[in-house]
Amino acid sequence: LIADYHIHTPYCGHASGKIVQYIENAVAQGFQEIGFSDHLGRYYLTRLQRKRYWNWGMEERDLARYFSELNELRDVFANKITIRVGLEVDFVEGAEDILEPILSMYPFDFCIGSIHCLPRFGWKHISEYSGAANINLYKEYFRLAQLALHSKLFHSLAHVDFIWRYLKWPQTFQDIIYSELANTIRTAAATNTCIEINANGFVWAQANSPAAIDPFNFLLDQIKLFNAPITIGSDAHEPDMVGKSFGPIIKSLLSKQITKIYCFEDGRPRQECLG
Ligand SMILES: [Zn+2]
Ligand SMILES: [Zn+2]
Repeated sequence: LIADYHIHTPYCGHASGKIVQYIENAVAQGFQEIGFSDHLGRYYLTRLQRKRYWNWGMEERDLARYFSELNELRDVFANKITIRVGLEVDFVEGAEDILEPILSMYPFDFCIGSIHCLPRFGWKHISEYSGAANINLYKEYFRLAQLALHSKLFHSLAHVDFIWRYLKWPQTFQDIIYSELANTIRTAAATNTCIEINANGFVWAQANSPAAIDPFNFLLDQIKLFNAPITIGSDAHEPDMVGKSFGPIIKSLLSKQITKIYCFEDGRPRQECLG
């Protein structure tokens, strides 16, 4: 096992266990490398936005401790596993200039960008939208995903599958969705930003994809087609979830002839072979 690049810590307030337990679990599974990417708090939003948008994620005052604690652990475990320190950051259109200095306050190894909210439809979690037609929510999601890729703030776009896990896939419009998803992957390739293969998205697809649609499979096909770079992440919020489903994920990547993943040190990409 090469690298799990999406791991949370108790600093975000909604992950369990101790940081060392996440690391020890990764060591026990034989991982060469792991990347922590806990949620940056949304304190970079305006006050009004913050009031409307629930504030999960690290407190501003914890960011320094998060960074230094993980760096200490990196040294402690140096002969067992390589630890990289990163963040998962909500991409918010218009907040790029505020976000950039926050992200450069500490020399993070990498940063993953996420879309958990579609502000044009209200400041809330994607699962909470009702009223708007799903096709419009999907279009907005992919518009923001492409903006996030163009922002150059991120090394990888986290869980692009997030939308179809939470909002019913509108079958009538699936040509539009497939083409927007394809555009997003093409944008990732063009901007040299990774697409994350998220274990929760993979597991969801195994359990839920109706026979007629299989967006995860389509996603892998587009990654291959555009030769888009990827990372793999468990999105672990508890120690046992580190490396979740990596065996079957890697198998399905290899079955599509997707053979390379990326790791990051100090923002610099390094390619690793899967097979
Ligand atoms: Zn996320
Ligand atoms: Zn996450």
